[in-house]
Amino acid sequence: MSQPSDKLDLAALKLTAGEGRRLEHLTVPFDDLDLGGQRYTTPETIDATLDVSRMTGDGYALRLRFASTISGPCMRCLTDAAPETSVDSREVHDEGKGTIEDSELTSPYIEDQVLDLTSWARDALALAMPSQVLCRPDCAGLCAVCGAELNEAGPDHSHEPPRDPRWDALRELKLD
Ligand SMILES: [Zn+2]
Ligand SMILES: [Zn+2]
Repeated sequence: MSQPSDKLDLAALKLTAGEGRRLEHLTVPFDDLDLGGQRYTTPETIDATLDVSRMTGDGYALRLRFASTISGPCMRCLTDAAPETSVDSREVHDEGKGTIEDSELTSPYIEDQVLDLTSWARDALALAMPSQVLCRPDCAGLCAVCGAELNEAGPDHSHEPPRDPRWDALRELKLD
C-alpha cells in the first residue's frame, strides 16, 4: 500500500486527453461516521482503487472503489455489528465548462486539479451504507416484552398472555 494521503494531485499524473490510468492500493485516511445519532467506527485507512481518465480539455472522469467495515451497535439488538460495505462511486469534473448551469460537471472533491480522496470516500460510504446497520441481515432484535436478545433466545421465545381468572372459573364450571 502507498503512503497514506488524503489528497491526490491529478495534474501530477500528466495524462493527455483520452488517456486513463488505474491507481491501485491507494491508502486513504478515513474518519468515523455518524449515523442515526450513533457513532460508527471505520478503519483508520482504506485500501482504494481509483480510475482516472482525462477527457478533452481539463476534464476528468473518475471512479473510486473500496470496501470498508463499519463497527457499532446493531440497530435492532444493540450488540456489536461490523458489516462490510462495498463502494463504487463515480465523479465527472470539467472545469473548462464549469459555468453555473453546468455545476453537475464540477466535482465538489476537486479543486485546482487536486482530488480530496478522504471527503469523497467518506460521502460515498455514507451513501452506500445500508439504512440499517445490523449484526446480521436477519437479526431478530429484542423481545418487546422482556428485552431478551431473540437471536440467542431462539424462535420459541414467547410470552403466555396473562391468564384471566374469570376463564378459570368458567372452565371449572364446564368440567362439572
Ligand atoms: Zn442485531
Ligand atoms: Zn421475552
